[in-house]
Amino acid sequence: MTLRRGSSGSAVRDLQSRLIDLGHLSGTADGVFGPKTERAVKDFQSARGLTADGVVGPMTQAALGGAGSGPAPPRPHPSGAFVPTAVENPGGGRITDKSEPATSEMVTVAGHGGRDVRLHRLAAEAWAALTVTARADGIAEPLLQPMSGYRSVAEQQSTWQRAVERYGSEQAARRWVAPPGNSPHHSGRAVDCWMGSSINSANADSQRGTAVWRWLDANASRFGFYPYSAEPWHWEYNPPTR
Ligand SMILES: [Zn+2]
Repeated sequence: MTLRRGSSGSAVRDLQSRLIDLGHLSGTADGVFGPKTERAVKDFQSARGLTADGVVGPMTQAALGGAGSGPAPPRPHPSGAFVPTAVENPGGGRITDKSEPATSEMVTVAGHGGRDVRLHRLAAEAWAALTVTARADGIAEPLLQPMSGYRSVAEQQSTWQRAVERYGSEQAARRWVAPPGNSPHHSGRAVDCWMGSSINSANADSQRGTAVWRWLDANASRFGFYPYSAEPWHWEYNPPTR
């Protein structure tokens, strides 16, 4: 359930209690989502590197832990001591299991330019933690905001057809786009992120020269993300089992 200004009831009361516990809100939890609660949500979102829109969607609920339904996920630690949760066994590199996750495993996060990006919940949580640490290291918004995440096999079919036309052959297209059924994006654990210029093969070389790419190269694996050498904007969540 998404909570925003104007919402009321027990879910709002739980949210307010959590915000009070975390020090973002003072007073009592009255169950009415007014301007003071909205400001507290924005403060919390800013502190966690989330888009500070004052709306409590799945991503903010996950970061709050326990304010939504289901078990509270491990929260990113400000020191960067985040421990990613393995999905594949043994993991520890690029995605090999390209099957689509259950709907219950998917969340929607706020992406670049206000777009909604769907991701596996563990990838979303790890990308949020990665972003918090990157911001602390001076990698400013909107860098690293997700551009695209989960893609269905049907969506990949049209992406693939456009690429074959653009690059002239299936062989040439394969360098930039995976054939339908074979994209790591089907898993919901691949993130294409904003690196300061559009996602375009012509920008790949220049993006590899940026501070944000160097930061990712040095730090992404701590959050369970691994690179694809041809696409500096593309990172895959597949932490090793421990
Ligand atoms: Zn990608």
